[in-house]
Amino acid sequence: MERRIKEILALTPSDEAVRAEGWVRTRRDSKNVSFIEINDGSCLKGLQAVLDRAIFSDEDLEEVATGASVAVIGRIVASQGGQSVEMQAESLEVIGPCPQDYPLQKKRHTVEFLREKAYLRPRTNLFGAVTRVRNTMAYAVHSFFQENGFIYVNTPLISASDCEGAGAQFQVTTLDLANVPKTEDGKVDYTKDFFGKMANLTVSGQLEGETYALAMKDIYTFGPTFRAENSNTARHLAEFWMIEPEMAFCTLEGDMELAEKFLKYVFQSVLDKNAEDMEFFSKFVLDGVVETLEHVINSPFEHMTYTDAVKVLEKHNDEFEFPVSWGVEIQSEHERFLTEKIAKRPVIVTDYPKDIKAFYMKMNDDGKTVRAMDVLAPRLGEIIGGSEREYRYDVLVDRMKELGLDPEAYWWYLDLRRFGSVPHAGFGLGFERAVQYVTGVANIRDVIPYPRYVRNCEY
Ligand code: ATP
Ligand code: MN
Repeated sequence: MERRIKEILALTPSDEAVRAEGWVRTRRDSKNVSFIEINDGSCLKGLQAVLDRAIFSDEDLEEVATGASVAVIGRIVASQGGQSVEMQAESLEVIGPCPQDYPLQKKRHTVEFLREKAYLRPRTNLFGAVTRVRNTMAYAVHSFFQENGFIYVNTPLISASDCEGAGAQFQVTTLDLANVPKTEDGKVDYTKDFFGKMANLTVSGQLEGETYALAMKDIYTFGPTFRAENSNTARHLAEFWMIEPEMAFCTLEGDMELAEKFLKYVFQSVLDKNAEDMEFFSKFVLDGVVETLEHVINSPFEHMTYTDAVKVLEKHNDEFEFPVSWGVEIQSEHERFLTEKIAKRPVIVTDYPKDIKAFYMKMNDDGKTVRAMDVLAPRLGEIIGGSEREYRYDVLVDRMKELGLDPEAYWWYLDLRRFGSVPHAGFGLGFERAVQYVTGVANIRDVIPYPRYVRNCEY
């Protein structure tokens, strides 16, 4: 394997001939030399190759244009410019030429323009940096859990159970939509469908994750999740990646401790490994993004019950679009107020009213609130949602009936409460929300390679 640009840039000048491969970002010509900048995505910076016009003719360089793929062989020398090194080229090969209509010419393109060119955008500085940071974070997710003894579990993507009615689901079917089989009373006859029943893409792996936690103790999932969110926001995708740890013999306290340790670990790994990319985000995407991360890593998260949070927020109701009172959802403006104005750091809000949370959350003794927790981050709002699960069979069944859910449909989930039930807890982190937070990128569509959202499924 040839050296990547990142490795070449770390070399010290020597007489050894080195081969560099990549895509031309820019070309500059002067009378006696041409300069080309080659990038291969291994790092933000490109390698500058210096082509002496005494060696390379116009014809040799004819196809060396922005976007072309090239291989250059030469010696590594100290750069005239200063700190880094450059290549004094001895030979050059254009592997794939690139015509003038290449969309990524040397100027700043808007993220909207680049979204339309999603198949090329990883060749820009912004998307190269996002891709590398996303990679670091994915690796950190696994290493954090692996170092802490968690077992990686793959929960199904096609599911016949709706976790919480979390969001609208995408249906999976092989029925002929032009000719749907019907039952006698005119409903869709799912017995004729592929699975013999209605099936959907999963909105969460939690319920299945719980069954594995109640066998393996500490598990996590990290996989794609689908929600037919009809909301055109900068924080919602129809297909996103979710991380869901679940711990048996664990209550909400352990869950919160894990969430804080985990976020800090993942953020720190980016600061450690992607300093150059983070500097880029700081300069061109969001000023102060590195300091925010450092601040989050260094401050213990604030803890607040929902009831206390509402008391604080009510005092500022004149500042909100949606006034707060006990029982209402805390919206993103309130989440930002709590984290940015009140606590000035991440806040974990706990013990929400049962009516605004899912059926599986453990009921408190007050009968009104549940052992839920949301981790709120400055600038972003909710980044993690989790809870201690209701592990008492009778209480869970009552709660389901209260909500009009059919206990039959959740028979295996309920069985788990009959066969060696135990307190357990977990949470869900939207991976893209975390990448957004770390990079400062404003729109979630720009932190995933091929975003899927309402009316968009290009590529
Ligand atoms: P929100 O209120 O922001 O829609 P939610 O309450 O529906 O979030 P959960 O069902 O608790 O979210 O999902 C767990 C995590 O998954 C959230 O904290 C968030 O980080 C992420 N998430 C949820 N929906 C989406 C989405 N449509 N696109 C990207 N990430 C999402
Ligand atoms: Mn949602």
